[in-house]
Amino acid sequence: TTEERYSSYRFYDSEVNAQLQTRLRLETDLGMALERQELLLYYQPRIQLETGQLVGAEALLRWQHPTLGMVLPAEFIPIAEETGLILPIGEWVLRTACNQLKQWQSQPLPEGFKLSVNLSARQFQQPDLVEVVQQILAETAVKAAALELEVTESLIMADVKVTTEMLSQLHQQGVALALDDFGTGYSSLGYLRQFPFDTLKIDRSFVQDVTESSEAAAVVKAIVTLAKSLGLGIVAEGIETRSQLTYLQSLQCDEGQGYHFARPEPAAAIALRFPQPTSV
Ligand code: C2E
Ligand code: CA
Ligand code: CA
Ligand code: CA
Repeated sequence: TTEERYSSYRFYDSEVNAQLQTRLRLETDLGMALERQELLLYYQPRIQLETGQLVGAEALLRWQHPTLGMVLPAEFIPIAEETGLILPIGEWVLRTACNQLKQWQSQPLPEGFKLSVNLSARQFQQPDLVEVVQQILAETAVKAAALELEVTESLIMADVKVTTEMLSQLHQQGVALALDDFGTGYSSLGYLRQFPFDTLKIDRSFVQDVTESSEAAAVVKAIVTLAKSLGLGIVAEGIETRSQLTYLQSLQCDEGQGYHFARPEPAAAIALRFPQPTSV
């Protein structure tokens, strides 16, 4: 009936309205999240597939909102990018991650342990990004080689020339560089040769399907072969099952992350995974 349709339109309207309100609310609140100390980092273990050893961790941003609870990055990183808040937030992430690494380093860490931090395209529009990274490494006394920066192909696309220059400068400082979400962008192959990456991270969407789809399995196999032939390290993202792990091990994929090993967790939980001093 007309009446029913009318009420469903009204329902739709109020639904859209509610979404807009939430969005506005998040935007306003995000502006204050840093000074109110509502942002925090979780860390997801990175595992050497052959041995099961912990070889690093990825810092993943969380927002503990006073009334909405824990907000995931998919909901607020886009807002942070649109508003420019990603610049102070991104700097906070880098500084917090490096401070955490420094603190972890007071106990014996697994050899070659690396902490990875995600960078947004907007951060590469900051002319002083390289100096900011340098400054944070200096003030936290963390070795550049223990820090890995993860960037995506879309980031590079934004301004190939400027980004290449900045990535090269970061690389010259000794910082490790990883190409994140590999396979989801385009022209990937050309970029691999052109940019100073050390590691390639295969996107979760491929890893997820390796045991169900022979195409996905073939794509992952090709990416691993490619990475190896270019002398790049390779990390599989989003390993959730033993059979996915077994497949990746059979390809001699170096490292992996995923719920099969561990979810992102607070810093204190990561510390428990480090080699514990043997008691006397
Ligand atoms: P990403 O860099 O690709 O990070 C991996 C995401 O996959 C994380 O989601 C992680 O929790 C999730 N994940 C890991 N293993 C599994 C698995 O086995 N199964 C499934 N279903 N998911 C898994 P999260 O923490 O929600 O982060 C989402 C995205 O937000 C990140 O994707 C990254 O693009 C962005 N992000 C997170 N932290 C930061 C940050 O500090 N700065 C910037 N610029 N972006 C960030
Ligand atoms: Ca990442
Ligand atoms: Ca990724
Ligand atoms: Ca992703």
